[in-house]
Amino acid sequence: MTEQRIPAEFYSLPYFDSFKIPRYLNFKRKQEQLSWEEIITYVNLNLDYPFYEMIREISNPDNLTVLVNKYNRLPMNYIPQDLESIHPDFNSGEFKLRQEARVAFEKMGRAAGQDGIMIQAISTFRSFDYQEEVYFRKKSPEISMEEYRKERDRVSARPGHSEHQTGLAVDINDLEQSFEQTPAGKWLAANSYHFGYILRYPKGKEYITGYDYEPWHFRYLGPKLATEIHKLRITFDEYYIRYLSQIL
Ligand SMILES: [Zn+2]
Repeated sequence: MTEQRIPAEFYSLPYFDSFKIPRYLNFKRKQEQLSWEEIITYVNLNLDYPFYEMIREISNPDNLTVLVNKYNRLPMNYIPQDLESIHPDFNSGEFKLRQEARVAFEKMGRAAGQDGIMIQAISTFRSFDYQEEVYFRKKSPEISMEEYRKERDRVSARPGHSEHQTGLAVDINDLEQSFEQTPAGKWLAANSYHFGYILRYPKGKEYITGYDYEPWHFRYLGPKLATEIHKLRITFDEYYIRYLSQIL
């Protein structure tokens, strides 16, 4: 095996962290097919550790660009203070989003309506306690916790790790992967970024996000960031490391 060296040009990347050099080298040894840019991004995300190891508690939960994933946990008692009910035309229940996300969601709903597409929120803000209920909903005594987590982690967040706790995420119309084939699913995939929403768990990026493809789950980031992410075709996790982590 040839010993890899990090080419000099990568040392000047704004997100290069010299304290992580041993981890970069170690990860490259295990994942030789990845580019150095990917290695550095993934290690900064902690992807060289299994999901739910190396967890950091989020200190800026109110920030609109907050990154919540399997390595970044929201404080247990965090509840956004500006939650507002979505207009009944776009709401299948009593669902609430943070103000800016709520306004943008309704704008998106009206634009979709003009194209003959109906969109409705079917889940939005979820508290830590409610997420705990959701995560353990399918647990039975016969199944070990280890086995349960292995299956459940692909489709449901552990409490504190759900983007829904930010009040900036919304599930739309239908929790089925076939949603991508529907007019609403197609419309959202093509247009949501104009309104500041991105598809947060894309197909083929499961090894980064830690979740199965979710064509119904959208995250509000504002039109500027959503447009950049949509055009770059990367996940928010990667975008956060490359463009946001140094300025926060
Ligand atoms: Zn969701």
